[in-house]
Amino acid sequence: MIAKVVLEIPVFREFDYIIPEDLASAVSPGAMVKVPFRNKVLRGYVTNISHSSNRPELKEIIATINEKPALSQNLIKLASWISEYYLCPLGMVYRSFLPPGIRKNIKGRKDYKIIPSLSLTRLSEIASEIQKKSPKQSAILRFICSHSEKKEFDIQKLSSAAKSSKQAVISLVEKGFLSMKSICASEKDSIFFDYPLMHEINLTKDQETSLKEIIDAIKANEFYPYLLHGVTGSGKTEIYIKSINETLLRSKGAIVLVPEISLTPQTIDRFRRRINEPIAVIHSGLSDGQRSQQWEKISKGLAKIVIGARSAVFAPVEDLGLIIVDEEHEKSYKQEDSPKYNARDVAVVRAKFEKAVVLLGSATPSLESYYNTTIGKYKLLSLPSRIDGKTLPSVEVIDMRSDRQNLKLSCSEELAREMDMRLSKEEQTILFINRRGFASSLICPSCGETIKCRNCSVSMTYHKSKKMLFCHLCGYNSKFLSACPSCGNPKLIQLGLGTEKVEYHIKKLFPHAKLLRMDSDTTSFRNAHRKLLTDFANKKYDILIGTQMVAKGLDFPNVTLVGIIFADLSLSLPDFRSAEITYQLLTQVSGRSGRGAVPGKVIIQTCLPKHYSVTSAANHSYKDFIDKELHFRKELRYPPFTHMVNFILSGKNEANVKSKAEFLYETALKNKTTGIEFLGPAPAAIQKTKCNFRWQILLKSRDIKALRKAAKGILNNSNLTGGISLSVDVDPLSLL
Ligand code: ADP
Ligand code: ZN
Repeated sequence: MIAKVVLEIPVFREFDYIIPEDLASAVSPGAMVKVPFRNKVLRGYVTNISHSSNRPELKEIIATINEKPALSQNLIKLASWISEYYLCPLGMVYRSFLPPGIRKNIKGRKDYKIIPSLSLTRLSEIASEIQKKSPKQSAILRFICSHSEKKEFDIQKLSSAAKSSKQAVISLVEKGFLSMKSICASEKDSIFFDYPLMHEINLTKDQETSLKEIIDAIKANEFYPYLLHGVTGSGKTEIYIKSINETLLRSKGAIVLVPEISLTPQTIDRFRRRINEPIAVIHSGLSDGQRSQQWEKISKGLAKIVIGARSAVFAPVEDLGLIIVDEEHEKSYKQEDSPKYNARDVAVVRAKFEKAVVLLGSATPSLESYYNTTIGKYKLLSLPSRIDGKTLPSVEVIDMRSDRQNLKLSCSEELAREMDMRLSKEEQTILFINRRGFASSLICPSCGETIKCRNCSVSMTYHKSKKMLFCHLCGYNSKFLSACPSCGNPKLIQLGLGTEKVEYHIKKLFPHAKLLRMDSDTTSFRNAHRKLLTDFANKKYDILIGTQMVAKGLDFPNVTLVGIIFADLSLSLPDFRSAEITYQLLTQVSGRSGRGAVPGKVIIQTCLPKHYSVTSAANHSYKDFIDKELHFRKELRYPPFTHMVNFILSGKNEANVKSKAEFLYETALKNKTTGIEFLGPAPAAIQKTKCNFRWQILLKSRDIKALRKAAKGILNNSNLTGGISLSVDVDPLSLL
């Protein structure tokens, strides 16, 4: 028999290998194998089995990597879809489906202990009751009862000491006689009874209506896509929790995707308190071993619920009934490296293959998802008001043009006055600025020179606390310069704000206030987020100053004021989505205010007070925003009315990159089909990163199939040489 195998190399084809007899039973579609390739041994994935091959001199598969196929039929199907849609070689897609530890067959650390969940007397009774039907399980219970001095058992040792199997231990856990307990304190895990289960909450009318729809869909065992549009604090998470419990009642599993940044202990705890089942958690902070462990737990059915960031959409949950994508508009669902998939869209496709319900939730739905509700692709569910009649915060827009002095100081009189009031009432404030550092560029007033990164085409950011200049693209850094390196002028002007400068100004204004700054500079130590946010929740600080990471999902009832230091930072991005990004950010950050008993206030500082992103966010009107933005997108033929494919060519030699870009563009034009717009070739918005020059070709069309065909044409013609690389991005979220 012949196995069709894809390898973890960037080529679009399968390779044929003979299946040796001793591996015949282990090799099936979805299996991970080791195969000889050129003079190396590579990892590959079996896509299919066939009787014959038309290639001469086949080699044999060397070994299989896992005991059972790593991927289910539905996941195999999903991998093919991703490869086809995102124009990424299948082997590379499989690679991203499986955590590194599983691919390398590294077993997870034995972090779990088994503990009895019932009294030993009761367990001994059960042992007798199940003796006939399940002798192995009975043996395990007897072993535990006869070692009453031991409080916990290692799963491996327990199964061998009782001359039984690991599976038997797991069955006892599933029956609730034994529990698995994590011994890694920072990563509380797989706990059956550790979390107090909260009392049930009575849903509001709006919640009831939405939940009823979802439950009916779950019962139907069919594919149903929903967009849940609910303002911040409208009770979306409650709906998620109840939907998950409904799914569990039907013995099905669920995946909850949340943006990496909101995968906070707060979020996870909240789910754990309300769901009486083990939950697997997948995030980027896990070691390879921990990640494998979570994956195995899911794969063995020990956890039916998975909460995780982007890649959790590939979790091997069997009998998947529900996928939730919280904050579906979030950019972080898009993977930046190949395969450049968007986990939100992949979630919808996976749900389709699994005949499951998919629930996309957001206070600020993406244009794409909202548009899908208008053409009947998704059904819209709405939660238009906050729980308990709480009002959305009142928003004041401050025109920073009228007050130059204040702009420099990052804090308007109004904001300062409001902060002062919060300080005297012991309420808390969050200040948001979407940039870290002290000054975003240094410019020479004499020769006009800006200090740029030597590897990239961007200016260096001044970090005052470290007395260093940093490039935020490549990380290159150098000592702070006080004089101009070109003309020697002794003083450089500092332009642009960042978190550090805001902190500096606020400290001057309120010397006695306790300030907490959160950005990637202050949160690099272990468990930083948990620690700092807990401290803030416990009111150890009065004012939290932060970037994106304070914008999302946080729920601190004592925060009654949010200040957005400079809304224009995101509006000025050279990106057709800048208005959408700004509207979403402003709305999300505003949503942190007034979540407790005291109504909240928001102050937005901007030089563009009339821009519709700002006014609609201030009026809490998604409808105003979306109407204007959809109109603009339609006029200019941008998504969601078209699809795009973005090609970036890069390399160290600019002339080579340019001529390759021109060559590809010319060939593509020759094979041009109607209905496809070709833009470029042109230098990308960021012309150079990490010493690589970048050129761009952008394809746009209403017809995604024709578009992909044209894009494939470019890929097939690319024939890259001379250190040039080509990246292809289907449905790009950023064109920089
Ligand atoms: P969202 O996810 O839309 O921001 P949440 O689900 O976090 O909203 O709800 C906001 C707050 O209201 C939470 O503290 C939650 O526990 C509470 N809550 C949600 N639904 C109800 C309800 N029906 N009755 C009372 N409190 C609720
Ligand atoms: Zn750089």
